[in-house]
Amino acid sequence: MSNSAVPRVLILGGGYVGLYAARQVRKRLGLRNVAITVVDPRPYMTYQPFLPEVASGAIEPRHVLASHRRDLRGCKLVTGKVTEIRHADKTVIVELEDGNTETLEYDHVVVALGAVPRTLPIPGLAEHGIGFKQVEEAVALRDRVFNNLSEAASVKDEAERKRLLTFTFVGGGFAGAEALGEVEDMVRAALKFYPDLHPADVRFVLIEAAPRILPELGDELGQYGLAQLRSRGVEVKLETFLNSCVDGHIVTSDGDEWDSDILVWTAGMKPNPVLANSDLPLNQTGRLQCLPDLRVTGEDGPLEGVWSAGDISTVPDLASGEGKFCPPNAQHAVRQARRLGENIAASIQGEPLKDYFHKNKGIVASLGLHKGVAQVGKIKIKGYPAWMMHRGYHVLAMPTWNRKLRILINWFTSAFSNRDFVSVVQQEKPRQSFEDAANSGAKK
Ligand SMILES: Cc1cc2nc3c(=O)[nH]c(=O)nc-3n(C[C@H](O)[C@H](O)[C@H](O)COP(=O)(O)OP(=O)(O)OC[C@H]3O[C@@H](n4cnc5c(N)ncnc54)[C@H](O)[C@@H]3O)c2cc1C
Repeated sequence: MSNSAVPRVLILGGGYVGLYAARQVRKRLGLRNVAITVVDPRPYMTYQPFLPEVASGAIEPRHVLASHRRDLRGCKLVTGKVTEIRHADKTVIVELEDGNTETLEYDHVVVALGAVPRTLPIPGLAEHGIGFKQVEEAVALRDRVFNNLSEAASVKDEAERKRLLTFTFVGGGFAGAEALGEVEDMVRAALKFYPDLHPADVRFVLIEAAPRILPELGDELGQYGLAQLRSRGVEVKLETFLNSCVDGHIVTSDGDEWDSDILVWTAGMKPNPVLANSDLPLNQTGRLQCLPDLRVTGEDGPLEGVWSAGDISTVPDLASGEGKFCPPNAQHAVRQARRLGENIAASIQGEPLKDYFHKNKGIVASLGLHKGVAQVGKIKIKGYPAWMMHRGYHVLAMPTWNRKLRILINWFTSAFSNRDFVSVVQQEKPRQSFEDAANSGAKK
């Protein structure tokens, strides 16, 4: 430990793992006995399983965010991006909002920087695609979809109208299938307010490299999800790759091509690339290898004071047996974080560490309003009951009662007053109309 009065716990990333680990250490040790610092460029934790419902307008964007200021009271918050981890001298370099850098020292570091979209060097992807991991992306997707519907209702050019009304998603895992399911459902429901548009004008395409979608749910439920989407007119292209999307002209490996104004990329995640700028050992998947007690380990055994969990790490899944590892999901991230927090506290107090052990509780997914799939133990559930379970599970898992209540009120209101079909135009240029007014005044 350093010379500082109390041990310094530095948490890199304020997502699932960062938020829950910080709260657990604070709860176990009390703020007088530990100095907790959390670094994140965003002032909130995003509850990602609700992003599809943000995109469909079922939940207000702010309600899926847990404020660091509110929920991590007593912890020091640093708004910035970790750019380098130097474990050899127990420091981390952070780039602050104003471009300056700060060097933070630690006794214990929790690397909880999560994952980022795994993109490929596909022509046009970086310029034309949009990811689906941040709340900003879910909001932008919703607004763009509504802008396209409004624009398409007025344009005369048939090809342009088709382009505006074609929505392409790449990646049929949880995030892609749920996002597409919710947005498609929202668009179909919105069409009654667009008398100039016909349902047949709208096209949704899902491109998936594997021979199935929703692999997390197993064969039967994956097949059900596929049939569900196809029965709604979604074109699902299995065993197909996106080859190019320059200027929104989509070309796929099966020789098909079409124009699509919106392209959502949800084809996998990779560990946060900041790891390449660290002296921490990485395993074959490029992640931090954890021991079951969540200490990071390398060839020479566990590193002193380095902990990790969640999407950036590989954690043994003791409940599934020897040689098995936890899948990267929220269910594990939250529980690993609590165990990690407990173990940091135990390590500071000289107590023995405990291993992470969690038996999978099942999986739930929504494919639009009243449509879902779920697996609980060996029981497979489809349709409305699965959708209810999805909502029930996630609202309980959402951090803080404040957020849970707000989300419940959102749903309650929608149940009695229909969906919210309003989108905010010009969010990216909020000063535009003021500038126009100022410029027109200057000309007089
Ligand atoms: C659309 C979507 C839907 C999902 N649905 C489900 C679901 O239904 N069920 C389920 O179990 N799981 C789901 N998941 C997966 C789940 O959200 C993740 O497994 C979980 O978020 C992992 O937690 P984490 O703390 O490792 O990473 P995150 O929660 O992503 O947190 C990482 C944090 O690090 C911060 N960060 C990143 N880079 C830096 C940097 N350089 N410096 C400082 N901070 C940084 C980020 O801002 C973020 O706050 C979904 C994911 C997505 C994207």
